[in-house]
Amino acid sequence: MIIKDKVKMPVLNKKIRQTNFEEVACGYDIELAKLEAKRCLDCKNPKCIAACPVQVPIPEFIKLILEDKLDEAYYKIYEDNILPAICGRVCPQEKQCEGACIVGIKGDSVSIGALERFIGDYALDNDLSKNETIIEKNIKVAVIGSGPAGLSASASLRRLGYDVTVYEALHDFGGVLKYGIPDFRLPKNIVTTEINKLRTMGVKFEKNVIIGKSITIDQLLNEYNYQSIFLGTGAGLPSSLKIKGENFSGVYYANEFLTRVNLMKSHTFPKNPTPVKVGDNVAVVGGGNVAMDAARTAKRLGAKNVFILYRRDMDALPARLEEIHHAIEEGIDFRLLKNPVELIGDKYIVKQVKCEIMELGEPDKSGRRRPIGTNKYEIIDIDSCIISIGQLPNPILRESTDKLDVDDWGRIKTNVHMTSIDGVFAGGDVVSGAATVILAMGAGKEAAVEMDKYIQSKKQ
Ligand code: FAD
Ligand code: SF4
Repeated sequence: MIIKDKVKMPVLNKKIRQTNFEEVACGYDIELAKLEAKRCLDCKNPKCIAACPVQVPIPEFIKLILEDKLDEAYYKIYEDNILPAICGRVCPQEKQCEGACIVGIKGDSVSIGALERFIGDYALDNDLSKNETIIEKNIKVAVIGSGPAGLSASASLRRLGYDVTVYEALHDFGGVLKYGIPDFRLPKNIVTTEINKLRTMGVKFEKNVIIGKSITIDQLLNEYNYQSIFLGTGAGLPSSLKIKGENFSGVYYANEFLTRVNLMKSHTFPKNPTPVKVGDNVAVVGGGNVAMDAARTAKRLGAKNVFILYRRDMDALPARLEEIHHAIEEGIDFRLLKNPVELIGDKYIVKQVKCEIMELGEPDKSGRRRPIGTNKYEIIDIDSCIISIGQLPNPILRESTDKLDVDDWGRIKTNVHMTSIDGVFAGGDVVSGAATVILAMGAGKEAAVEMDKYIQSKKQ
């Protein structure tokens, strides 16, 4: 018999959590995990696996939970996904595995993400790590960027026996997992522990090295003797609204705002000397995960009113459903069909945002109804504004690397993961534009296979 309703994950009280950065979703315990695991039908043709970008054998690990074989369940996932505790928390499962789950046709789909997180957390709590035999090749490869794409590529390359060094521009490793996604969704100690597992495997990590400035790609290939390079440098350059007033003090780009809080711990000022001021009324422009994270962070920094300004309607919000739900619970105000056209300030500091009121027309290329201006305007008083309308790749690499082909948006062009430079591969947001953790991991894993083929073919 199919159990229609999923087992809900306990969450922190919504009033209390607005005042701190503790993780909101608390995870299943073993009883809840087993109850949920029982809902899986162990399908003969499991649609969930096909819908997972790294093809985790979902029904197999769920069955192992029911059999109390939690170590085995972890190893089963780990073969295809090195970051289950992270993906279980942040993947847009409703659009991937859970979106394809058969049980979802007549009720709630199986909570695959919550079960994956349960196993990932079990492995962290019990210090599980797979003892993998690595046959050394003594061939050096470099990975640029320590986000999900770089981490996944480095794990796969290391398993193949390569001598892997990861170069990271920032003073900490993990990419967006560390500097973008806030603690209340993804506690940073989880990311650190997962990275330490890669160190144990033998992956080397170098921080504060900006490839393209400190060392060039050319130097890595010709002076440092790397036989192949993977570029996983992400999409860290924020898109601008291109409206009047964007330079006023009090206007932030979401990446900068979140980095100040996540990496520089501005919320612990004066313990850490990098304060960030939001004031009482905060406008967040955009409707994706980044906008939700910025809005919920602003609330936790003490803002009284935080509102999302988005030019379409609720149904078109691109953020994960869970994040939208948690934002609503925390009192974030969604002011929809509003498009900012000007930021108004006194001399230096932002004071107001002028928005055009929009209505929806026919569907555009994305399938969503196109927002159309009405020529009617509304002015809203604000103390700060956080712009979160997308990110593109940082130009440092393309500006410092001859013959690195990019498209009109600065995304690196690849052919079966190889760039226009022989032996240099790329994947993740720097190729696709801002996307998801699991897609970046999938690209890193596939690129590692291509790098191996490339290096082996050179030896013949
Ligand atoms: P990144 O994670 O951006 O990592 C790139 C790394 O390369 C960075 O550490 C950067 O410092 C480093 N780097 C850049 N240039 C250089 C250089 N020249 N030299 C050396 N190092 C360099 N996705 C989800 O699936 N679920 C979510 O809930 C979600 N929430 C998000 C919330 C926020 C705030 C943001 C910003 C993104 C979110 N995403 C989410 C998207 C997801 O995080 C990204 O798609 C993913 O991190 C891309 O991985 P990546 O490895 O390609 O790049
Ligand atoms: Fe289980 Fe759903 Fe996957 Fe079928 S599609 S195996 S029910 S998780």
